[in-house]
Amino acid sequence: MNHAVATHAGAESIIRMEAVNKWYGTFQVLTGIDLSVRTGERIVICGPSGSGKSTLIRCINRLETVQKGKIVVDGIELTAGGKNVDAVRAEVGMVFQQFNLFPHLTILQNCTLAPMRSRGMSKEQAEEVAMKYLTRVRIPEQAHKYPSQLSGGQQQRVAIARALCMSPKIMLFDEPTSALDPEMVKEVLDTMIGLAEDGMTMLCVTHEMGFARSVADRVIFMADGKIVEQAPPGEFFGSPKHEKTKQFLGQIL
Ligand code: ADP
Ligand code: MG
Repeated sequence: MNHAVATHAGAESIIRMEAVNKWYGTFQVLTGIDLSVRTGERIVICGPSGSGKSTLIRCINRLETVQKGKIVVDGIELTAGGKNVDAVRAEVGMVFQQFNLFPHLTILQNCTLAPMRSRGMSKEQAEEVAMKYLTRVRIPEQAHKYPSQLSGGQQQRVAIARALCMSPKIMLFDEPTSALDPEMVKEVLDTMIGLAEDGMTMLCVTHEMGFARSVADRVIFMADGKIVEQAPPGEFFGSPKHEKTKQFLGQIL
């Protein structure tokens, strides 16, 4: 399988999850998750609704905590207690299905808020960085508008730019195109492909299988809180092994 995007994945693991188990009350949402992600690796996570995909990636920036197991992100042990939250949030950017922009702030202000508050940047510095990334996602001219004045695709590109303004080492995407009108999906995927080309470590929950084929180094299939199967895209789509994977791919392809 020829990847459209050359791989940048290095040898060392930037994310390590070992025997991770998580419960919401009595419901076990993650069961025995072992996952290592190398620096520069691009991972696509797919699986049926409710299989624990969002929960899994939210554990990586500690939006969720786990009861059992170990999670280490760029040398920061997340399972050691609460004090590492800020450190890890500064390294891990996240983009959600629903954009989550602050509606009362302009696009520029959305992008400068966190760098000023948690990176200690001056307003001028933060605005310069913000304009750099808004240019990169090709909407610098929208900087002084409010989120509601932008299309969904534009808002999602702002959300990506906003995350990049913190210079993250890892980017998490949770179904970033699922809430978009079909004609806007491509512009967001193209932005993500650009990030991949630049060597960003990325974990993307998505059912955009074209994206997975051309960008992912590895596709992970989850069901019932477990990693059921994982393989490079050629193998994953060409010869899925597990019955649940076959069933799932049969439904979405
Ligand atoms: P996915 O992203 O694969 O659809 P999620 O990680 O969102 O799956 O959710 C997995 C399961 O955990 C679902 O059954 C969901 O209802 C449940 N769940 C998710 N978040 C919570 C929560 N905060 N409290 C209780 N149950 C939750
Ligand atoms: Mg989800």
